[in-house]
Amino acid sequence: MYVANGKSKKDLSRIATNLSKYPQVNYKIINSKEIAQNFPQMKYGKEYDACWEKNAGVLFAEKCLSTVQKRFKELGGTLIDGFEVMHIHAGPPAVVQGAKMRNWVKNKPERKDESYSAKAVIICAGPWTGPLAKNIFGLSLPLSPKRIEVMYWQVKDKQMGGPPIVFIDLMNDGEYYGLPSLEYPGMVKLCCNNQHSADPNTRDTLQQKPSHKGIIDYVKKHFPSLEPRPAIIETCMYTAILDTFKEYNFEEYTSNLSTKILFRGLNDGTGFKISPVVAHILGNMAEGKPTVHNIQPFALSRFQSRSKL
Ligand SMILES: Cc1cc2nc3c(=O)[nH]c(=O)nc-3n(C[C@H](O)[C@H](O)[C@H](O)COP(=O)(O)OP(=O)(O)OC[C@H]3O[C@@H](n4cnc5c(N)ncnc54)[C@H](O)[C@@H]3O)c2cc1C
Repeated sequence: MYVANGKSKKDLSRIATNLSKYPQVNYKIINSKEIAQNFPQMKYGKEYDACWEKNAGVLFAEKCLSTVQKRFKELGGTLIDGFEVMHIHAGPPAVVQGAKMRNWVKNKPERKDESYSAKAVIICAGPWTGPLAKNIFGLSLPLSPKRIEVMYWQVKDKQMGGPPIVFIDLMNDGEYYGLPSLEYPGMVKLCCNNQHSADPNTRDTLQQKPSHKGIIDYVKKHFPSLEPRPAIIETCMYTAILDTFKEYNFEEYTSNLSTKILFRGLNDGTGFKISPVVAHILGNMAEGKPTVHNIQPFALSRFQSRSKL
């Protein structure tokens, strides 16, 4: 459910118009009174409206990942875990060099160097994409890894419970959002989109802890059935890109006519939900097939003046 007041109501209308194109989507615009009737766990004043998508749901990352991996194996793919990529030679054929680390538990790491050759390589290294591109190709991509705090709030009023739906407050580009109690029993996931630059390898060693005042005030105001302080805080990494195509990108670095090195970054947040589509596009690109979508706005060449490519 999207909630909005003031200027963000424009975004609510845009979302409703978009949903109206899909007959299978069961949605309804409701006012603050109807929000309160349907969701007494949420308290939004009369300046608020909401777009309630009744058949929306939650994707479980673990299930999505295992489904995709299962399908990959069914199609003949081989998964190699625990392999650190250290070099990629463009070829052709492209050669990926790296090492498998073993026996970490016994504190006696045993390194086993391995290499794989291929016609195309797709790099999906999440927040490590920037350093990897720099180390391997000398590419300076304008990527900025960000840390976001993921907070879980205990349900105080057990009778009323926590909000039973996923919600996004459209204020300030969706600053606050939440999910029902699914991961930790009796706890609601409710987050603020506050992002702070961080190295993914040292994400939790911040000198100055981010302030929680904004989200605590928000929870006190709009979620009376929750404890007003987060019980569990985890760290999530996003990768921001310094251009207008923020949400997902398909970076292509063609080193010569027959070898392709493709980067996929920014799969966080929205990107996570559309990753099968992104994977399909990248798969086509890797095989040299035409892509259904226009991917030109996401081409690596848009950074050419800033990178060493
Ligand atoms: C607590 C928490 C809550 C979250 N909640 C949400 C949510 O509600 N919705 C949402 O969309 N997202 C959420 N996220 C973010 C989610 O984790 C990311 O969207 C998703 O994992 C991004 O996938 P990815 O494949 O792009 O990157 P990652 O999952 O970060 O995968 C990158 C992989 O690359 C590997 N790698 C890096 N360098 C190398 C190298 N040299 N050689 C080999 N491998 C390498 C890393 O080990 C890693 O496995 C959450 C994250 C956390 C931690």
